[in-house]
Amino acid sequence: MHSEKRLPCWEEKIKKELAHLEEISQKRELVSTECAEQPWLTINGCRMLNLASNNYLGYAGDERLKKAMVDAVHTYGAGATASRLIVGNHPLYEQAEQALINWKKAEAGLIINSGYNANLGIISTLLSRNDIIYSDKLNHASIVDGALLSRAKHIRYRHNDLDHLEAFLKKSPIEARKLIVTDTVFSMDGDFAYLEDLVRLKERYNAMLMTDEAHGSGIYGKNGEGYAGHLHLQNKIDIQMGTFSKALGSFGAYVVGKEWLIDYLKNRMRGFIYSTALPPAILGAIKTAIELVQQEPERRSLLQTHSEYFREELTNYGFNICGSRSQIVPIVIGENEKAMEFAARLQKEGIAAIAVRPPTVPENEARIRFTVTALHDKKDLDWAVQKVSIIGKEMGVVE
Ligand code: PMP
Repeated sequence: MHSEKRLPCWEEKIKKELAHLEEISQKRELVSTECAEQPWLTINGCRMLNLASNNYLGYAGDERLKKAMVDAVHTYGAGATASRLIVGNHPLYEQAEQALINWKKAEAGLIINSGYNANLGIISTLLSRNDIIYSDKLNHASIVDGALLSRAKHIRYRHNDLDHLEAFLKKSPIEARKLIVTDTVFSMDGDFAYLEDLVRLKERYNAMLMTDEAHGSGIYGKNGEGYAGHLHLQNKIDIQMGTFSKALGSFGAYVVGKEWLIDYLKNRMRGFIYSTALPPAILGAIKTAIELVQQEPERRSLLQTHSEYFREELTNYGFNICGSRSQIVPIVIGENEKAMEFAARLQKEGIAAIAVRPPTVPENEARIRFTVTALHDKKDLDWAVQKVSIIGKEMGVVE
């Protein structure tokens, strides 16, 4: 007799969850993408205007970064062979970290293997069970995961609502170790944190302040040192992290702060101690990008011009851009399915922009997230705005 074979319960559970994701239009698929470092990319063989990358200043395709990477491979090899505390601390680390410290005008700095690892590592190393973390509701997932890993009490205040934050701070024991943590440029809404007010609160309530400059590094400040630098607040922020994977064109992350802080992280941060060091090529790119970003302010100006233009045009057409004031320009669509359809229609017209759905953004606030870069041509942006407005009207997103 043929009896039907039952799936093991764990397999059944996972498959059910995948089916559910499919049902609610939240199932993700990988698509083959080429030339993402260029303003026009190719997805599954179709050429599209690239409004989805974080290559804000265009350094990902820069010949000087590529050469620095190739030179580093020739001199130091393909891989670091071990973690930095073993034998992976090749000479480019010291050079890149010195460039980082000079650029950020910091006492000390450390390069970390990725932005995700940096947030996970820094937060879970500095805080533990009896401490308290105050985190903006729209902070990046890596900050949330770092807080969870730390086992500290994790309080999420409403986005940029500092009265809400202060109400929590007021209730906290004065002697508790406290961390306020925020993105400086929010990755989904494209708006800024109120850093001056956060500094005031951290001083009043004896808390540490940590900023994530993933979307600010390279873009804001006289030398591209970040949004905190733009506001001349670097010295007031205890822990500043940022990434080299976006405006700086390659990969990896940094943290800068006081000497004792960096020393502590080198000794205690598990992701730093137990993970292989970055390949030399990445350090070559990081060092070169830090130099270029200071020498080429015109890229920042061009990016600002493009961002401003794109935000203004979409607002004029009636789109809700979530208060964006940066190069990240979302338009709220609403339901997941509708956002997916919007993205698909954009792609059909030759525009690559991603639909961002819950849990990355709140329920019923699924959106299309556009990112503009210094590399874009104004004519192409204009063309894209026209297409977006036509689709928006046809789908009833705007009138
Ligand atoms: N922080 C923020 C605000 C981010 O947007 C990202 C990347 N999406 C990260 C951290 C993680 O950086 P990385 O991609 O270098 O891991």
